Parts: sequence; C-alpha cells; structure tokens
Amino acid sequence: MAATSNIVVVFDFDKTIIDCDSDNWVVDELGATDVFNSLLPTMQWNTLMDRVMRELHAQGKTVDDIRKALTSVPIHPRVVPAIKTAHALGCDLKVVSDANLFFIETILEHLGIRECFSEIYTNPGLVDPQGRLRIRPFNSSPHGCTSPCPPNMCKGGVIEMLLSALPGKIFIYLGDGVGDYCPSLKLREEDHVLPRKDFPVWDLMSKTPMLVKAKIHEWTDGQELEEILTKTISKICSSFPDDRDISSQLISADCKLQTVSTSAAHEPLCHRPLPMHH
Ligand SMILES: [Mg+2]
Ligand SMILES: [Zn+2]
Repeated sequence: MAATSNIVVVFDFDKTIIDCDSDNWVVDELGATDVFNSLLPTMQWNTLMDRVMRELHAQGKTVDDIRKALTSVPIHPRVVPAIKTAHALGCDLKVVSDANLFFIETILEHLGIRECFSEIYTNPGLVDPQGRLRIRPFNSSPHGCTSPCPPNMCKGGVIEMLLSALPGKIFIYLGDGVGDYCPSLKLREEDHVLPRKDFPVWDLMSKTPMLVKAKIHEWTDGQELEEILTKTISKICSSFPDDRDISSQLISADCKLQTVSTSAAHEPLCHRPLPMHH
C-alpha cells in the first residue's frame, strides 16, 4: 500500500486555498459592504452572513450573481497544482472552513478541483425555495470551546473526530486564521501543521510553541504552500520503507510536479532516479 494513502491533508479555505476571505469578497462584489459593516458590531459573523444574503435577495440579487462573484476570487497559481498533486499521489484531502458549503463548492467546481476533496466540513449554505441563500452554523448547539473558536464552529472538534475515525493516518493541516489554532493543538507528534506566516494562527502558535505537538512548517504564499506541502508529504513517505521511490522523486527540485495530472496517480513522477534529501 502506498504511504500516501496514510496521509490526510486538511485545508482551511479562506486565505489558504483562495487568497482572500470569500465572505468579504461576495459582500464587496455585490455592493453590501456598508450594510455588512453597520451590522457587524451587533451580530455574530455567521448569523450576519445569513442576514446580508437576505438583504441582497431583497435587493434583487440572485444566487447566480453570487456564483458569478465567487468565480473571480483571487487564488495563487500554484495552489491548484499543489492540490492536484497531493490528490494524484493518493493523499486524502479535506476542507475544514468557517465559510459555507455554497461558496466553497462553487469555487472548487469552478477551479476544477471539487473531486480532489473527499469531505468538506463547513457551515451549511443552501438555496431556499424563494431563491435566497441561507447560511447556518456548523455547530448548531454550543460547542463550549474557547480556544479561541467562533460560536458557530470549533474546527478542533472536527479534527478530534477525524483523528479517532481514521486511526493510523498521519495528518497535515494548513491554515491561516484564529479558528485554525484549536485544530492545530489537537494534532499529535507524528502530524504536521502548516501555518501561514504572519497570519493570526502563526502569531498564536509563535506565542505558545510548547502547546503544539505537531511539527510546524510555515509558508507565506501559494508557491511556498506547494513546496512545503510536497516536502512534507515526501518526508512522511520516506518514513515508510516501501515508498522511498515516491519520496525521492517528489523531493527533487528538478522534478517540478506540474506535469502530474490526476490520472497519473501511481505512475512515476520522473524517469530517472533522483537523490533523496533528509
Ligand atoms: Mg482562513
Ligand atoms: Zn475549538
């Protein structure tokens, strides 16, 4: 069995897969910034997004307008190849996000990478019979976590559940925000956490390095995300004797991986043996 099938890669979505916050993007693109800002001091973010969707619907904005806005979100050009490569190698990819299912699926489908992910854990986002997008909390009852998770979603709870549901798997977690701190603390010594440098999760982890058991590898942009993710997968593979081959091919700087397609899952990445770095 390939070692990559023992690897679960969990991605945050906003400012990790895409290079902006999808909630802010839609609000700004559809001209609801003022109403959003005026309500922000009085409402919890998740409830506010549902409320703003109601305002937009009342103004005649359709779900298609929202969809259109979502297809223009900024994304670093190396992120999609990084995701396709991890998937093609046999890793199990998941999204854990405080955005919502409608936004995430729309964007992933637009990028052609929806099928790379086996699961998406996020706030429900459904279009009601009137054509209005409704956004609900992921945790419908209080999760009781204060470290520091928003009331509608504790991502740490998701990671705890995955760790016990998938025994023997090694986890790689990528994120940028405050909500990515709690799941990072749940990871074990054998896991890897990839915080985005100079973003809130990185700040929190830098203040409390003793609380993080997983190995930490920081990244700054999509190019580094690709490099660090590939190296981390390779490192995990090199600890499985059967998969030294994949590892040595992956780690080479000569072998850029752009040519790996999802159909090439178990074919060699390069045609000549390459040195392995440790
Ligand atoms: Mg984020
Ligand atoms: Zn939490």
